[in-house]
Amino acid sequence: MELELEENTIYQTFLSELEGKIQILAPGIDGYEESIRRRSTAAEKHAAAVIFPRTTDEVSKIVKVARANRIEFVVCCGWQSAGCASSIENGIVIDLRKMNTVTVHEESKTLTVQGGCTWADVNEEASRWGLATVGGIVNHTSVGGHILGGGYGWLTARNGLAIDNLLEAELVLADGSIVQASSIENPDLFWAIRGAGASFAIATSFTLQAHYQLNPVWSGKLIFTADKLPSIVEFANRHHERAEDQGFIFGFMCPPAGFKPVIIAVPFYNGTQEDAKKYFKELLDIGPVIDQTSWMPYEQANATFNDHVSFGARKSSGSSTVKAPFTLSLLQAVFDEFARFIGSNRDAGVERSLVVFTLIPYKKIREVKLEDMAYANRGDYYNADVWLRWKDPALDHKARAFARAMSERIHQIGRTAKDQGVGAYANNAEHQLDAMGLFGVNTDQLVELKKKYDPDNVFRTWRDV
Ligand SMILES: Cc1cc2nc3c(=O)[nH]c(=O)nc-3n(C[C@H](O)[C@H](O)[C@H](O)COP(=O)(O)OP(=O)(O)OC[C@H]3O[C@@H](n4cnc5c(N)ncnc54)[C@H](O)[C@@H]3O)c2cc1C
Repeated sequence: MELELEENTIYQTFLSELEGKIQILAPGIDGYEESIRRRSTAAEKHAAAVIFPRTTDEVSKIVKVARANRIEFVVCCGWQSAGCASSIENGIVIDLRKMNTVTVHEESKTLTVQGGCTWADVNEEASRWGLATVGGIVNHTSVGGHILGGGYGWLTARNGLAIDNLLEAELVLADGSIVQASSIENPDLFWAIRGAGASFAIATSFTLQAHYQLNPVWSGKLIFTADKLPSIVEFANRHHERAEDQGFIFGFMCPPAGFKPVIIAVPFYNGTQEDAKKYFKELLDIGPVIDQTSWMPYEQANATFNDHVSFGARKSSGSSTVKAPFTLSLLQAVFDEFARFIGSNRDAGVERSLVVFTLIPYKKIREVKLEDMAYANRGDYYNADVWLRWKDPALDHKARAFARAMSERIHQIGRTAKDQGVGAYANNAEHQLDAMGLFGVNTDQLVELKKKYDPDNVFRTWRDV
């Protein structure tokens, strides 16, 4: 039942403590319903209040008020979490969307990015200076969750993960104090936030290394019919053998027109169109039924997938990893299983679900040792994700169970060796694995640091470390 504003004690507490200086929405106020929207409708919860700070000091004040009054809170940046990590029933949401300034430092080629930016904000501003940093392949995701959990992008092959390009962060800790974390200041905290950051603090700004990105890139969408899977697998293996900084994503989907399962592929070439077409010739020769590839600005390449992973509908994601060389028999089995699930649940609105294999070369990722940062998913393998999407709440349990089972099924394709990373990406794993499953060899140190920086486990909705 919706509370009247006068009875909403949480709202009233913040209204008086913040002296009306910071925007607060609550049930009954215009804009509130919009503010609790999430990419997955299943993750929409009724917060008692949604608060929109504009500065680090305001974030600090909000945290202090919340802690003093024992009010639970979550932090929200890009509204992406299908596992409800950025939504809350009755508590408050600290929504960072107004903290979206990007400052370019030309001389050092670095970017200072406020904690509420989307990757679209960052790409747009950096591109004005001929720069880019490692950011998400979908540009409506935000810097906050992405960087703090690791951060893959098309530039990963050249420059590593987003955390490998993170030089410094400004953080608000669980007690409301404001600190800097870098290799010089609070290095233990800096270690923790590079991979498990959302379990430690609110990042109000990041300083990121940028790189020259002066040329357009060749990318875009290709669609192939199901019978082309053997050739796609062959190409994927060729790509694995010779890729330097070229990326290749392929996946399975069943678009609504007939629910006929097809293969989607997105190539990425950071160079001239001629060279791109040479590198991807064998892929293009397979004969796509739709070809939307072109030479385009880097920031546009990061919007290619946006339509396939848009807001609306209920969602669940599962994380897995695959090791090359890929075998047709196993990929065919995954394709068939996925197609069967979609076909038998078409009335529940499952169209536009995806299984995606992200073949971004991992050599650069492997240059950082597993123990060097909290992030523990560095290995000789590629990420594979299951992104289910459905409309009927009656399918919730079945769909989530399928996403988990499918992730496990894919993982068996490339069960990783013990000396490698955990083989799961925490940012996509939802609640599939515990801390040990996500942070492996780094778990004990994380647990120790948690006692130091967040002893009451205030930041626990992303991962309960
Ligand atoms: C459609 C889609 C595409 C994706 N593509 C990629 C990709 O290309 N590469 C990749 O590596 N990952 C990708 N991911 C995974 C993505 O990085 C994670 O889902 C990430 O957590 C999203 O963060 P967000 O801030 O956008 O979402 P939110 O739901 O707002 O936040 C997710 C978590 O991070 C916390 N958080 C957010 N901002 C902050 C902050 N400033 N300080 C502290 N905590 C914060 C939240 O509290 C929450 O726990 C994708 C996910 C989706 C859904």
